[in-house]
Amino acid sequence: YSAETRTFHSTREPGELPPESLPVTATAYAFSLLSSPLPDRPALVDAATGIAVSYPSFLAAVRSLARGLWCSLGLRPGDVALVVAPSRLDVPVLGLALMSIGAVVSPANPVSTPEEYAHQVRLSKPVVAFAVGEVAAKLPPDLRCVVMGSDEYRRMADGGGGGGGGEVVMPAAVAVKQSDTAAVLYSSGTTGRVKAVAITHRNLIALIALHAENREKVAREAVEAGEEPPPAAVTLVPIPLFHVFGFMMVLRSVSMGETAVLMERFDFLAALRAIERYRVTLLPAAPPLLVAMVKSEEARRRDLSSLLVIGIGGAPLGREVAEQFAAVFPDVEIVQGYGLTESSGAVAATVGPEESKAYGSVGKLASHLQAKIVDPSTGEELGPGQRGELWATAATVDSEGWLKTGDLCYFNEDGFLYIVDRLKELIKYKGYQVPPAELEHILQARPEIADAAVVPYPDEEAGQLPMAFVVRQPGANLTEQQVMNCVAKHVAPYKKIRRVAFVTAIPKSPAGKILRRELVQQAVASR
Ligand code: AMP
Repeated sequence: YSAETRTFHSTREPGELPPESLPVTATAYAFSLLSSPLPDRPALVDAATGIAVSYPSFLAAVRSLARGLWCSLGLRPGDVALVVAPSRLDVPVLGLALMSIGAVVSPANPVSTPEEYAHQVRLSKPVVAFAVGEVAAKLPPDLRCVVMGSDEYRRMADGGGGGGGGEVVMPAAVAVKQSDTAAVLYSSGTTGRVKAVAITHRNLIALIALHAENREKVAREAVEAGEEPPPAAVTLVPIPLFHVFGFMMVLRSVSMGETAVLMERFDFLAALRAIERYRVTLLPAAPPLLVAMVKSEEARRRDLSSLLVIGIGGAPLGREVAEQFAAVFPDVEIVQGYGLTESSGAVAATVGPEESKAYGSVGKLASHLQAKIVDPSTGEELGPGQRGELWATAATVDSEGWLKTGDLCYFNEDGFLYIVDRLKELIKYKGYQVPPAELEHILQARPEIADAAVVPYPDEEAGQLPMAFVVRQPGANLTEQQVMNCVAKHVAPYKKIRRVAFVTAIPKSPAGKILRRELVQQAVASR
């Protein structure tokens, strides 16, 4: 922290980024890192069927589809393609093929409504959509739609009948630059409308380069210590590929020559089975999965001994739950990361087993980044230990602007970042600010509670009351009063829970964010 500029600086080694002058796409860069001959393990595996795609077939599929997109569909650099499908094996192939010809991949949630797609289409202006059959009818009728798996799609995947193999040779006039947009992702929109976020090839290349560097460092250190370098990771990706977290994890895995296991739709028991069956080593996940693992008998029965790291991000994870997880799974490192769609990569993350034990923190600022903590009401820049809105510089060194994260955060004296809550989600009780995440963490740590959410309940006198929605563990007969008491013991009086409803499930976004607005509506409707 520099008291003079009131700025926090990353203490991570900055590392070298590939030269900007290389006119390469994220796809070309990712593939350039693969060994020759290509890795002798699957690039992708479908968790449910076990169908695997080898590296040679994966690269061939990307190149052949790229030819089809270029020759028969006529896609050109800058053209946006909406991709609306569950996490199937052909989705990463399509994404990398689009980026390889400079077209822009824009993945969206397959369970959205026609209104939501119309909004996204207005934002990103795609020239074509690729969608699974059941989604096609929900897309705007004037948007050209190619159904994935259709004959038309299959012809394109075969190279578009253009004959001959080889890569698309793009004429110099349309050459792609690293500063061009590679992907348009949509933020979750839990506190407002969904936003479209443009991510450049440079962003993706920088993030891939960081992973490559980390991997080399780990391998070097292992060799120096006389140990074997760690084997290639097997990553289970239960988070959707249209969310920045899932998108990046698959891009990372295929760039590193590792194996990514895809789940078409998230299912807790299926995820446990997949870890066992494919000897998964790395599990990126949203906090609800970790909470479920702590509470589940089944998780203790399965052989999850292959699991080395669980990477948690996307929503706040309580310290108590993290500690409980560490007690049940002492050999699994919990890497915490914090980021936004707008930052494409992590703004902060824990690195290494020591830092990962700082449960409750999301780690230290990622390399190259700077941050400020700003008082949201006065605009004053604050120092360590003080809470305010986090502003961070964007993912790469070349950006000068500040990204206002909308999150209430603080750094401790050692540079560890703590996320208190989203500013917009703070409950205002008689003028006091109550962070719902803090109360949720207390509730989630209780053995009788399977899951919980806290929302503002409109109240004439107090403005808003903290209200808890609670899912009881099977067999538990917790009362409303007990729920209120268990929170009251841990917090200042103004933060007490003042209303309770028992429900069977907490609505969440695919990235694990609690859909509080739905719960508020539910509470108000039943008044
Ligand atoms: P989105 O870009 O829609 O995925 O949302 C980004 C937001 O997710 C951030 O502004 C945070 O509010 C929240 N978020 C992401 N990761 C974490 C984390 N590790 N802890 C707490 N909140 C998080």
